Amino acid sequence: MKKNMILLIEFLFALLSIWVLTATHQRPESALITLRIYVLVMIGVTGTLVLMFRHYLTHHSTIDITRICETVRNLDVPAFIWTNDLNTIYTNEAMDDILGITESEDPGDSAKLLSTLFHSMGISPTSAAQELNGIIYRSTLLDFDRNKRYISWNTSLLKENHNASLYFTIGFETTELVMAKHSLTAYAKNLAASQSRYALSMRLAGIGILLCESVHDVFYVSDEAKEFLGIDHNEITFQEFRQRLHPEDRFLFDEYLEKMRSVKKDTTRNKPQTLEFRIRPAVGKPYVWYSYHYQENLTNATGGPIIGGALIDITGEKNKDATIERLAFMDDITEIANRNKLIQDGEQTYQLCKKTGSTYWIIVLDIDRFHIINDSLGYEKGDKYLRDFAHLLCKHTASGGMVARLSADNFAMLVQDYGDEELPMRIVEQIRIDMAELSTGDSSTTALSCSAAFARIPNDGNSFKEAMEHAEFTLAIGRGQLSYLMGYNAAMHREEASRSELEKELAHAIASKQLQLYYQPKVDLRTGRTMGAEALIRWVKPDGTMVSPNIFIPIAERTGLISEISHFVLHEACAQNALWQKIQFNPIVISINFTSEDFFQKDVCEMIQDVLIRTGLKPKWLELELTERLALGDVNYTIQQMNMLRELGVLLAMDDFGTGYSSLSYIQLLPLTLLKLDRSFISKIETDMVAREIVSAIIKIAKSMGIETIAEGVESEGQVAILKAFGCDYVQGYLYGKPMTALQFQKRLEEESNH
Ligand code: C2E
Ligand code: MG
Ligand code: MG
Repeated sequence: MKKNMILLIEFLFALLSIWVLTATHQRPESALITLRIYVLVMIGVTGTLVLMFRHYLTHHSTIDITRICETVRNLDVPAFIWTNDLNTIYTNEAMDDILGITESEDPGDSAKLLSTLFHSMGISPTSAAQELNGIIYRSTLLDFDRNKRYISWNTSLLKENHNASLYFTIGFETTELVMAKHSLTAYAKNLAASQSRYALSMRLAGIGILLCESVHDVFYVSDEAKEFLGIDHNEITFQEFRQRLHPEDRFLFDEYLEKMRSVKKDTTRNKPQTLEFRIRPAVGKPYVWYSYHYQENLTNATGGPIIGGALIDITGEKNKDATIERLAFMDDITEIANRNKLIQDGEQTYQLCKKTGSTYWIIVLDIDRFHIINDSLGYEKGDKYLRDFAHLLCKHTASGGMVARLSADNFAMLVQDYGDEELPMRIVEQIRIDMAELSTGDSSTTALSCSAAFARIPNDGNSFKEAMEHAEFTLAIGRGQLSYLMGYNAAMHREEASRSELEKELAHAIASKQLQLYYQPKVDLRTGRTMGAEALIRWVKPDGTMVSPNIFIPIAERTGLISEISHFVLHEACAQNALWQKIQFNPIVISINFTSEDFFQKDVCEMIQDVLIRTGLKPKWLELELTERLALGDVNYTIQQMNMLRELGVLLAMDDFGTGYSSLSYIQLLPLTLLKLDRSFISKIETDMVAREIVSAIIKIAKSMGIETIAEGVESEGQVAILKAFGCDYVQGYLYGKPMTALQFQKRLEEESNH
């Protein structure tokens, strides 16, 4: 717009304003109309001016295209100036790269290329200006070199024209950004996938992770571990974790923390280590076994300790271990510990005793004549008895002690010693009392008893095993005895050494026939004639020395040689008596001594019958002398066995009567044929009123029961007179003859038969 034009318009305004002022002044009545005309003219002029101005701006604005092209050329991002009819295009180098334009190419080509570009951007070239103007357009292109490019285009109108408007488009390449985003997305996807794979692996493997990298005493807890610990948040304090551990395992955790906190700068890779914990997820829930795998001396970036590890449920393994332990360490029949387990645990107790100064008793027990149960009632009942006996022992074992079955009917108890020397004795006594309650499931048998021996830990051995062996050794000394009870002492070994020497000799003596039978006459007090003989064994060594049966019979009983000896005695005595009868001497009764071991043999009747048949001796000429120790056993079984022997026809005498435990009332129950009054009464009979009274009473009662009596150890006529007066049937003693050889005895029989 020309400057003069504006001045002209301003001048016209001034004239109009003066006219309005004058007109309103001179003609005030037409002022309103004048003003209205003025305002209308003003509106008309202003509107015209605005329209003119706008027209001018559109048609007469000037852009410095050359300068813009220059700037575009210098841009290192793709940019181009173009008209919407695609006739005029300026591109820069970066843009040429995309379009594949070389410097020599003319704009016509670039127009073609630009329309290809618009096509590839999904835009029609004819409407490109409308679509792109004023917005940011993101496109994905393949450049001339077939590379994928991500470019965001920004287009603005430079000059509008009727024919063709001019636009400027600039592209911001985001290829790297997009690529980075893509790889980031891929990475995130991979991460998520690997995380879920990791979580799945942990779940499949049943592994829970605990991790603490901070200075706070808090574990980060994986999903699996959350389940193990019964929590629903991702963290647990060390204290809370410790609370969930079994009380016995908490010290393990304390030790572990202490170790982990004292991190050593250790560059060498430590081997993974393992702990075993019991954890329960909540009070009232059962404990579960976990193995905890960790590594020492792991540090974070600041050198602080990384405390953590993996928890794996090992209940299955533990159960398997328990089964293996059960198989290896538990006795099948009684379901208590076996010998191996006792030795294993006992060794620990032994070490504890050494450390703390405490002491324990090891008591070994043997059920006396247990074979009676097996023999008479069968193995099933025998097993039941063993089980009941095991439970009985458990009842007498306080906590901290243990019970084990060592072998067949041998058991052991480990009991804490509180300085009470009598404790093992009292325990065994109580067990014997309680054994009376043990049912064998058979009303005809009553209680068994047991023998026991004990040693003190750690005093009586250099190891638990040794102390236990000493107790077993002590028990073995009493083998064959009923209700034997003895504590170990070191002197026993010396005695045992000489015993074992004898044992060896005795075994050899039997084999080399150094054993002989001597016969001591038994005389009928009414007739004064020899009515019988007691066969007494003698061990005559090659050098002529004689060993008393009082010494070697107990050894034979203990070593098991007794049955061989008894068989020899039985056979020899029967054969001898049969021979004397063949010679036609007055038939006599031959007595042999039977131990309780012999008596309780299962096939004792068959064995005796067999010998009688083989030797041709009638059973009524054989008498078995039994001892009162039978009384300690099962009465019903004793009676049953004796009845069988009586049915066979053999005679049964009770030897050494009055010295032992049996009472007359007990004797009444037994099918005896003879009572042998012990020498200890007879020797006192002349001087001791009480002894005399006892002998008198026994003879009377025996008579009333139809049992005959014999007095042993008769050495004087005075004794004979008294015994005769009391009505004693028979006598035996040095007065009538010492034990003599078969030949000497035969001579005596010959002499008697000649009278
Ligand atoms: P016992 O069965 O009571 O035998 C009697 C013992 O008293 C015999 O001792 C005998 O010599 C002894 N004796 C007999 N009369 C008198 C006497 O008037 N005065 C004295 N002081 N002693 C007298 P022995 O032969 O030394 O036998 C001792 C024990 O050995 C026997 O006691 C018996 O229990 C056992 N015994 C002997 N032979 C055998 C045997 O073949 N088998 C078994 N199992 N034990 C036997
Ligand atoms: Mg005898
Ligand atoms: Mg006797």
